[in-house]
Amino acid sequence: MVLKSKVLIIGGTGYLGKRLVKASLEQGHETYVLRRPEIGVDIEKIQLLLSFKKQGARLVTGSFNDHRSLVEALKQVDVVICAVSGVHIRSHQILLQLKLVDAIKEAGNIKRFLPSEFGTDPARMADALEPGRVTFDDKMVVRRAIEDAGIPFTYVSANCFAGYMVGGLCQPGHILPSKESVLLLGDGNKKSIFVDEDDIAAYTIRTIDDPRTCNKTVYIRPSETILSQREVVELWEKLIGKQLEKSSLSDQDFLNIMKGQGYAEQVGLTHYYHVFYEGCLANFEIGDDAEEACALYPDIKYTKVEDYLKQYL
Ligand code: NDP
Repeated sequence: MVLKSKVLIIGGTGYLGKRLVKASLEQGHETYVLRRPEIGVDIEKIQLLLSFKKQGARLVTGSFNDHRSLVEALKQVDVVICAVSGVHIRSHQILLQLKLVDAIKEAGNIKRFLPSEFGTDPARMADALEPGRVTFDDKMVVRRAIEDAGIPFTYVSANCFAGYMVGGLCQPGHILPSKESVLLLGDGNKKSIFVDEDDIAAYTIRTIDDPRTCNKTVYIRPSETILSQREVVELWEKLIGKQLEKSSLSDQDFLNIMKGQGYAEQVGLTHYYHVFYEGCLANFEIGDDAEEACALYPDIKYTKVEDYLKQYL
């Protein structure tokens, strides 16, 4: 029997991070979660960390401001998954991972590093618009540091988190589906990919001990979640038994509106533009140099968009 790797999850109390902790425990890995002293008296984070401990995780103290503490934390495990923040309207700390790369180099024992990616493949976004390209540029800076250091990696390209995009019927600024109306982005026909966050975590954990995913990008592309905005809206209309009133926003109007927004909002809107006006997630074939998660792990029963939408009824 192959021994399962010991995993350290960094950013474990975050939106995706807490799901990674759960999936790692469920899949039987000895699971360590970084407890940063900087969280201070954040009672929600403390309670969440304690709940992880109750479920069998080990809490390990460490800070991005204390190199030695990171090295000591890393020495206890085989694999490290980082899920630090990377959404400007919440927080964007992607470059902090350069400190983690330094610590991994010094620790010298890490068999696989999964940096905080989990979205659009930044390697495909060299021509992305300002200011949203900062997300991709920063993730590429981290990739270069990993590869220059010769650290074995897996990059998980998870496409759209369903909670952000399905809930709001793909409309920026919306997180719950209306029963009255919807604004279509362009013709609403560009295909996107909507993945349940718990499924992202489950696929991610499966990659860590898999030699097929070493030094590769793994795209999570469940076939039944590849839909256009119109198709998401149709599924919702079927569930509520009613047609929504539809209007549409041209690409030029979208970009003009974007320019009047604050920086963090503009970053997010740039991503919507590339996904829903350009179709950047689904307009390419996965090459031989990458893998697709559902093909690798067909036993994982993923969530279909229709089922995801049912929670909003
Ligand atoms: P969160 O905003 O939930 O933050 C995750 C964690 O980052 C926090 O819990 C915290 O870890 C850590 N963190 C935040 N600020 C700091 C700081 N100043 N110093 C150190 N650590 C900090 O992140 P998400 O789960 O939303 O994002 C994770 C990844 O997923 C990102 O790469 C992001 O780009 C991507 N993403 C993709 C989306 C998609 O649709 N594809 C949507 C959203 C995110 P701790 O637990 O230690 O407190």
